[in-house]
Amino acid sequence: MPDDATMRAPRVFLETFGCQMNFLDSELVRGRLAKRSYVFTSRRDEADVIAFNTCAVRDHAEERVRARLWELKRSKERPPGLVIAVLGCMAQREGEALLERFPHVDILCGTREFGRIHDLVDRVRDGGGPVVALGESEPMPDLERDLAQRPRRHAAFVTIQRGCDRACTFCVVPRTRGPEVERSMDEIEREVRALVADGVVDVTLLGQIVNAYGRKSGGDASLARLLRRLDRVAGLRRLRFITSFPTLVTPELMQALADCGSVVSYFHLPVQSGSNACLKRMARGYTAESYLRLVERLRSVVPRVELATDVIVGFSGESDAEFAATVALVRQVEFVQAFIFKYSQRPGTAAERLLPDDVALEVKEERNRALLALQESIQRRRNRERIGTIEEVLVDGPSRRDRRVLAGRTTANRIVHFRGGEELAGRIVPVRIGDATALSLSGELVTAT
Ligand code: SAM
Repeated sequence: MPDDATMRAPRVFLETFGCQMNFLDSELVRGRLAKRSYVFTSRRDEADVIAFNTCAVRDHAEERVRARLWELKRSKERPPGLVIAVLGCMAQREGEALLERFPHVDILCGTREFGRIHDLVDRVRDGGGPVVALGESEPMPDLERDLAQRPRRHAAFVTIQRGCDRACTFCVVPRTRGPEVERSMDEIEREVRALVADGVVDVTLLGQIVNAYGRKSGGDASLARLLRRLDRVAGLRRLRFITSFPTLVTPELMQALADCGSVVSYFHLPVQSGSNACLKRMARGYTAESYLRLVERLRSVVPRVELATDVIVGFSGESDAEFAATVALVRQVEFVQAFIFKYSQRPGTAAERLLPDDVALEVKEERNRALLALQESIQRRRNRERIGTIEEVLVDGPSRRDRRVLAGRTTANRIVHFRGGEELAGRIVPVRIGDATALSLSGELVTAT
């Protein structure tokens, strides 16, 4: 008779690092493994398969994975048969060098091989390890999506494009994700309709450069046309897309944002720097002035639009004056949200080859602190302007900090806390805003009298 351990389904612990695309990839990986009867656990110590879906954009993200791998290497109680897998961008970037440093890793699965993960795991469990899959057997693994695997019932990510053809000097993504590939508008619409039929009301379209969508396949595909098509899907209440590139914001896209009621008013448009010299070294292909003109045009065509951005501080050669130009731009635009990163030189990028990483860490940290403080003060003031208004809030569910309070988001992606029953999750409800901090709003549910 087989004992309990051989009878039970193998358990997978899957930890994800990095961006939304990585979280969607993990969902696809879960789908493939679930088909082979793997089950999932949140406890690493009871797993038969430990998998890390990794990020390579900054060294810090890789460092966290390396720490996990060292821990596993040192662990005395490695159960016999345990499989350790490194998936995604870090596996792709480091390749087999990673196996030299961490010989206890059994699987390297690159960003265009997720579709084969179940075969790779099976192969190692059958005694065939280690396996290295860093090719391109499935650049677009989204087709066989298992809807049951999505972590949130009412919200979903949908890939429309993968990879990146740009050559920003700081960025490792073209190397880890490969060239741009796109799905057809028909296929995307089919997936969105299936998700909506399964209870989804909030869809985020994903791409490395989401507004490059359509360029590769030619024909009539574009982000603007796709938004118009999806805006007609009954039951889809909120439609988002991340992340856009400034030079590819077309008049058609702006008009689609103005016309489509389901498209949120949050527009994520990374600027990276406010200094023209710095933007040139980054090879971004625009200037601070052209970015500001774009912001102005966007705000005139789509008055409700609220802009978010990404900024890198301490990029190679960034002088005090260049950083001051970034501060001035952030002050002028008044973003609803800004993600601020300290420059991290990445192996294999043009910046690594051509530009020294010459801004001292303390200077990067100081600039990071200063910009965060400025952004916080802008957010606090702008959030306080919402006090007294009634916001349409899409309810996520109970707040992580306090289960008695619900958390949701406005169309401009502001977090709102208020009291209400869990049954409101997935619904859009009116909330009268009573208070605000830099990070969130709070208020009371408006009930019909
Ligand atoms: N593809 C998008 C684009 O270029 O607009 C964003 C992709 S990236 C995953 C997200 C953000 O990470 C970038 O917008 C940038 O601000 C930041 N980033 C990318 N490479 C970086 C690096 N080497 N050091 C620090 N931050 C970096």
